[in-house]
Amino acid sequence: MKRIFCPKCDYEIGIPIDKIKQWKQEKLQTTAIVCNNCAHQIRLRLAPPQEKRERPQYGHIIVLENVFGEKQTYPLVLGENRLGRRNKDSVTDIPIITGDPSMDRHHAIIKVKQMKSGKIKFYIADDESRVGTFVSGEILEPKEWRELEDGAIITLGATSIILSTENLSNK
Ligand SMILES: [Zn+2]
Repeated sequence: MKRIFCPKCDYEIGIPIDKIKQWKQEKLQTTAIVCNNCAHQIRLRLAPPQEKRERPQYGHIIVLENVFGEKQTYPLVLGENRLGRRNKDSVTDIPIITGDPSMDRHHAIIKVKQMKSGKIKFYIADDESRVGTFVSGEILEPKEWRELEDGAIITLGATSIILSTENLSNK
């Protein structure tokens, strides 16, 4: 299931992966779906834009959702990855879908750094959040960048996130 949000009313709409596969097989570039909530016609682009050169991806995070029980996985990219609670009006690199009000819209920053040796390292800092950012149950000091190992458990508000240094395959 791929989740999108209606641009008009912000209603969350789930699209089955099989449906998307079917559209791609039919070689559709775009398609339209109707919002179940406001009947707005939403245009979907199926062929990803080629021109956008993205930062290389290293590792990923897994958000353990406490309310819906649905896992969210996000790839990390070289440089800074800003994490926060998804909100209609906020812009962040990794907008986490959660009903957890204790997670700020800008809560923490994960930095992916390439060492001179070529080794990739992961660091996290709190982004001046109200309740702080925890790694393995320990609160980070203001402006502290804490190195993260594979499997590190990060807590933002009431939400747990696991860091994996494994790269997600490019779909
Ligand atoms: Zn709508």
